[in-house]
Amino acid sequence: MALQELLKEWPEIRVAETLASTTEQRVLGAISKDILTIEDFLALLSPAALPHLETIAERANALTRRHFGNSILIFTPIYISDFCENGCTYCSFSSKHHMKRHHLSIAEIELEAKLISETGIRHILMLTGEAPKKANIIYLQDAVSVLKRYFSAPAIEIYALDSDGYAKLAACGADALTIYQETYNRELYPAYHPAGPKADYDFRLEAPERALSNGFRAVTIGPLLGLADRITDAVSTAIHLDYLQNKYSAAELSVSLPRIRPINQDISIRYPVHDREFVQMILAFRLLKPHMGLTVSTRESKSMRNALLRLGATKMSAGVSTAVGGHSAKETSGQFEIDDSRSVDEMKNDLLNLGFQPVMHDWNHRFSLE
Ligand code: SF4
Repeated sequence: MALQELLKEWPEIRVAETLASTTEQRVLGAISKDILTIEDFLALLSPAALPHLETIAERANALTRRHFGNSILIFTPIYISDFCENGCTYCSFSSKHHMKRHHLSIAEIELEAKLISETGIRHILMLTGEAPKKANIIYLQDAVSVLKRYFSAPAIEIYALDSDGYAKLAACGADALTIYQETYNRELYPAYHPAGPKADYDFRLEAPERALSNGFRAVTIGPLLGLADRITDAVSTAIHLDYLQNKYSAAELSVSLPRIRPINQDISIRYPVHDREFVQMILAFRLLKPHMGLTVSTRESKSMRNALLRLGATKMSAGVSTAVGGHSAKETSGQFEIDDSRSVDEMKNDLLNLGFQPVMHDWNHRFSLE
């Protein structure tokens, strides 16, 4: 069945009815199961699960340690261009905002890469806005080729490409794709994405699949929490992960659950996700997908990120700047505010002090079998 059809099976009304009818019995059953259904996942996200969060947290920690040991992968983003044709209402890089834009030359990308690599980072995530006339496929290929010289497995978080685009970047050494559907809610999606190519919901939805069928090894997906009903978006993400897992069994799939953190205070958050709801969601995903990576970004505070180490997190960014050229030039402004500004060294030390193993390098495309 097509992904779009699978998503239709769990509209917001069905999610709400299932949550309302969830019993304590059902929650306890979900906690002890090895393979969870969407109904089990919803039980863990329901109000009926709240009195059992401690028990769910213990199970989440045990599953994370079983599958990942105490290791936490550290990576950092590199922003190379903030020109963007899209009008995402929640983003400071939106085409509607008048700001000085920056677009790194390949030599500037190399300088930025060199500075980042000197911090010990080996996993890098390359980001751009969506301006294909500036950040076109040749520019992206050149950028990935430079990053490959400094990092083990360059990942990208850029605009949705067609199959040919993903194949070209994979051939240059791009290894992993992070792409957020932002919200899976088809009614709300156009209001948040009123202009530009990103307004095409289905083209974005199908991007992870295009990447995996054109040479990418790994994909991270998730919603941007705060745009729509959080639990319906969580269920849609779970369905999307299942779909990809069933079709691309060799792919490394991960989930990331960023909460909106706009840099511009005029941007209001229609569906705020509070700390306890956020933690409950991380726990539910860990029980649903025990072997999948779970990224927690610097949008979260240091104390929240430290707490999530024992609740399911497996990947964390450090030494982060969300500005173009933020490691080599200091005058640019970022895409969103970060809350955890720890450097790579600080993050490594904190992880070690908390009993975790910081991992800088867990995959190298050079050694993969053809
Ligand atoms: S979220 Fe991405 S696509 Fe949307 S305006 Fe910001 S940079 Fe552009």
